[in-house]
Amino acid sequence: MATVTMTQMTARDYRVEGAIDWCPGCGDYGILNAIHQALAKLNLPPHKVAVFGGIGCSGKTQYYVNAYGVHTLHGRVLPYAMGAKLANPELTVIAVGGDGDGFAIGAGHFVNSGRRNVDLTYILFNNEVYGLTKGQASPTLPLGLQTKGLPEPNMQGKVNSLLLALASGFTWIGRGYAYNIRQLVDLIQRAINHPGLAYLEVLQPCPTYNNLHTRDWFAGQDLEEGRQRLYDVAEEGYDPVVPADADEQYLYDKICRYFEKAQEWGDRIPTGVFLENRLISTFEDRLCQRTPSYYASPPAKRPIADEEGHPIVDLSEIFAELTMT
Ligand code: SF4
Repeated sequence: MATVTMTQMTARDYRVEGAIDWCPGCGDYGILNAIHQALAKLNLPPHKVAVFGGIGCSGKTQYYVNAYGVHTLHGRVLPYAMGAKLANPELTVIAVGGDGDGFAIGAGHFVNSGRRNVDLTYILFNNEVYGLTKGQASPTLPLGLQTKGLPEPNMQGKVNSLLLALASGFTWIGRGYAYNIRQLVDLIQRAINHPGLAYLEVLQPCPTYNNLHTRDWFAGQDLEEGRQRLYDVAEEGYDPVVPADADEQYLYDKICRYFEKAQEWGDRIPTGVFLENRLISTFEDRLCQRTPSYYASPPAKRPIADEEGHPIVDLSEIFAELTMT
């Protein structure tokens, strides 16, 4: 990681020199650009940011951000990210992954991460296909669609990730678009600032394998003149906040409205912030209730060696138990 002197950060401070291994025109470039800009606007020092990538095209993102980064196992990006955040709660942790990684092999981890509400941000690059392995249908491709990598139309229904995130317990949920970078920078900042688990779906054209939901389609070129496909729910006065003192009726009304927006897809597709739930405690706060010294002495701050570098933890009893006689 390149050293950066702390003044006001700029997006350039988070860029990494060298070639980027994505196809020309891929939506991933827009998301990467937005991550750089959002980190700069939040003025986060790179050594306090860690980016965890899943498997797939989007899983290369952490190589292109000047911060700590880990390329994790298929479907396991959230457990890695949660472990790092719990070990060092001062880190800003961002997990990135694709729709295939997150909602096929990673679906169980997605659900169980929601139950914990660890304070981190999961950015899901949704292009509806497995781009890295030649364009097979991913769990977010709608039933009956046939992208160019498929010999037949898709026979499976799609996962609605906004509904799954709500059901799982994510406390901040939003959606952006890879080529609306101004909005995406704002959404990433809001997701990072949220004290709890944030899920940000980013609609991401894959010009190589998804010939249906292209940049032109998202721009609404097939619609009547003057109509736009993507809109921000804030334009309609949609309020995503569930305050800490919300009662059951308030929560019910909010969720009904959320359901409407989460299922809207086709000629009009909502983006923006859908939920900001302040009712639920973070996993870190729950840990602190059980172990009051947690924030003062998280695992990453505990000494593991003496001044001469010798381990201070005696593992001999454990080794003795494991010895074969
Ligand atoms: Fe992007 Fe698709 Fe190419 Fe992957 S295959 S880099 S998602 S355009």
